[in-house]
Amino acid sequence: MNALELGNELLTCIAGHLALKDLAEFGTVCRRFHSIIQDDTVWREALANQYGIRYKLPHQSWRDTYLKKEQDPHDNRLCPHLSNVDSAALAPYVKKYQAVLNWLPKNVNCATCGMNEYERGACLYVWEGNVRLRCRDCSYRFHNAEPGRQGILIRINVLQLFCFNCSRLLGETRGDESEAYYVNHLLEILTNGSELGREALRQKQQCMDERIMQRELVDRLYILNQPYFLVERVWLCSWFLRLCDGKIGQGPVNNLPLAISEEDDTLDPSARPKGNFVGGFGIITPELWYYLTDTYGLVGSTYTSDDIQGAEYDDLRQAIIDWRLI
Ligand SMILES: [Zn+2]
Ligand SMILES: [Zn+2]
Repeated sequence: MNALELGNELLTCIAGHLALKDLAEFGTVCRRFHSIIQDDTVWREALANQYGIRYKLPHQSWRDTYLKKEQDPHDNRLCPHLSNVDSAALAPYVKKYQAVLNWLPKNVNCATCGMNEYERGACLYVWEGNVRLRCRDCSYRFHNAEPGRQGILIRINVLQLFCFNCSRLLGETRGDESEAYYVNHLLEILTNGSELGREALRQKQQCMDERIMQRELVDRLYILNQPYFLVERVWLCSWFLRLCDGKIGQGPVNNLPLAISEEDDTLDPSARPKGNFVGGFGIITPELWYYLTDTYGLVGSTYTSDDIQGAEYDDLRQAIIDWRLI
């Protein structure tokens, strides 16, 4: 049988298995083959066959997504394993998710160890079209029990998706927009338009935004070139640790330990940057200060770079200079 006698559908299917170089060559054979590679369907096939990716941004072509994936050999931006998670897999867990949201402990037990998970934050372990509600430990154990298993962990209390194979959180700052779009789509299925679900999605977004702020606006050398604010170190650390865990901070910002005493709220000259001890501080930009105090509130006083110009703060200022900020 001559290849030219094959139907377009079959030709598209064959072309979808060709690597990029061969696909380009395929398009030069004749006008009909050329029209086949002009059609976006062949790129959808190629992306799924070669990279296992079956998602994209709505306004982007499969071809553009394919070309982006070509530039991502280590799956740092577009996770192929995420394609194994779809709405059909998640639909049966919508009710359990609502139970977690509403603090109803019923039916939120780990499928492996049987522990009730509603307090510790249950996870869904998704692999090859299967889903189980498991605790985090059992999910890791199950994943590692079979080498080569492709699995994704959904921490349903904080709406985070973690890919074991790509070893990163999906749909967050390191990933591609199309990955983030697909993750959001899945989370919308899980949260199912409920009010508490929408609030959980909002908090997830806030957490991601604050992680970027934390990285860029805290304890960096460039902050010293402008007026800056001092924040008590223990609060700053707990905010950071919660963000790492997928949760927003807990207010209020507490600057009380930076005061000389309960009666005198002047900044204690013996306060020092760094260190996880009470009375330590970090420095942040004005932008972040106003954001944090608006969002979380404040107890204690505001201390800025203007407050540490007196001679009694010489050592404190020197400590900031000696601090190895980058
Ligand atoms: Zn992955
Ligand atoms: Zn368990």
